[in-house]
Amino acid sequence: MVGKIAAVVLFVAQSAVWAETAKPPSDTRLVVMIVIDQFRGDYPEAYQQHFVEGGFNRLMRDGAWLTNAKLQYGCTATGPGHASLGTGAYPSQHGIVGNNWILPKEAGHVEYCCGGGEFKLTGLDPHMADSSRSPLTLKVATLGDRMKAHFGDKCQVWGTALKDRAAILTAGQKADGAIWWHPASGNFVSSTFYGESLPNWVQAFNNERFVDRYFGKEWDRLLDAGAYPTRFLKGCDNDVWRKHNPMAFPKPLGAGQSTPSVAYYGALYASPFGNDLVFELAERAIKAQSLGTDDVPDFLSVCLSSNDVVGHKYGPDSDEVMDCSIRTDRQIAAFLDWLDREVGLKHCIVALSSDHGVGPVAEFTVDCGHGGGRHNTGKLEKKLEKAFCAKFGEPADDRKYVREMMFPWLYLDEDTVKAQSVSLADAARFARDEVVKIEGIEKAFDVAEIASGGFATQSDLHRQIANSYHPPRSGHVYVHWDRFWAKGRKVAVHGAAMDYDQHVPVMFMAGGIKPGKYDNAVCPTGMVPTISRLLGMPDKNELAGRPFNFILNQSQK
Ligand SMILES: [Zn+2]
Repeated sequence: MVGKIAAVVLFVAQSAVWAETAKPPSDTRLVVMIVIDQFRGDYPEAYQQHFVEGGFNRLMRDGAWLTNAKLQYGCTATGPGHASLGTGAYPSQHGIVGNNWILPKEAGHVEYCCGGGEFKLTGLDPHMADSSRSPLTLKVATLGDRMKAHFGDKCQVWGTALKDRAAILTAGQKADGAIWWHPASGNFVSSTFYGESLPNWVQAFNNERFVDRYFGKEWDRLLDAGAYPTRFLKGCDNDVWRKHNPMAFPKPLGAGQSTPSVAYYGALYASPFGNDLVFELAERAIKAQSLGTDDVPDFLSVCLSSNDVVGHKYGPDSDEVMDCSIRTDRQIAAFLDWLDREVGLKHCIVALSSDHGVGPVAEFTVDCGHGGGRHNTGKLEKKLEKAFCAKFGEPADDRKYVREMMFPWLYLDEDTVKAQSVSLADAARFARDEVVKIEGIEKAFDVAEIASGGFATQSDLHRQIANSYHPPRSGHVYVHWDRFWAKGRKVAVHGAAMDYDQHVPVMFMAGGIKPGKYDNAVCPTGMVPTISRLLGMPDKNELAGRPFNFILNQSQK
């Protein structure tokens, strides 16, 4: 206990020192956080020979490249990933434990990770605007929120993305705006949370139908076919690969349609060109909102969501993921050039990471002799339900004990459990013991264990589960599947406490940074406190992220 108090005192003393001595680089005007959705930590090295000078190479050469960054939690999905990068906190702290969760006390209500409040979408016909989107689910402030508190109202904070949760959760509750894509209409939209109507410049962007410029075009390989693919999975030769993947290039966007439709927008989303839309939007945001034009720093997130869609559809060992990645490189190069011309890179902090990695395709790992498999969550729920009925009796009125398996969290129906006169603790323990009997489930932990003292200190996995736990959103049992297991229909899957889901790149380019390639083991939640130090803002020691001191020049530490 004495040690704990001493540590707290030390932290307080340290933050006071930092607050007094840290100074922002006087010329920092804009923080740009680039988040690539599903961009695994081993991609940059594997594809580097195909990168141009001005994209990733520019960040890796002129900035700090952290090759050993791993998310230190188990719920490695998009919502938790963007929230963690946006806040510098773990899901246990910011509360985003999944893309969705179930609140048992509210009759099993499923909550979307940025579905809080009663808002409408802006930028759409009223009949399409009925989804409430907001950052109200976030339990801690984002970097942008804190920048506004520190630098005042002249500091602007914007989030841009294809996915709503990416834009919203990186920007935060005090943001001036978050803009994302609505693939059903092809429009960029926002929420009445940020303002009654869509900003004029976004409306103008929609009116131009910039999104329709790819209609009738094809996605083909950028490089000669012989350069593809980069296979990460050992033993995955072409014979194995072709069994599961038709290698269909070129891919037409909007084939057989006379005008752009939902199918075209879907194809665009699942192509590298979706990211062109986000970069165009980001550049227009900088111009229209005059970001980076005065000495009060602004914040802009640029979240590239197409990589995730391509990755889910074709898997990390595919030509498509490689092609999308090297096109992302060219898109970043063009954006950095533009940023240099318009704002000046010397005035910018550019930080890049990813919300999560991805696992190899389960069918390939099986065929290549590595094991693995695919869970059918519906069948898994039925199996558990049967075991519950056998043990505690069949509930009345078609009620079920098992509410839903949302990997990694299993949710029970608390009303049913109560109605059957079973204690919730007994039910959770029973579910834990039953679920590990299912093939492909390695371990499971009920919430009483996770919440008990000393749980987090037992192993890396235990610590990462504790970092994922935020009651009551986090359900009743944490379920950890075996290596190379997956779920559902998506070809490639992420979402577990696996090294391939957790490993992401971190790149930093800014004044005050020592360029170089670093293999220090870090968590990407350290990005926020590192930026925070570069800006001369006080540390938030109660949050998980620890600054990457080793990349900072002496004057920034
Ligand atoms: Zn995904």
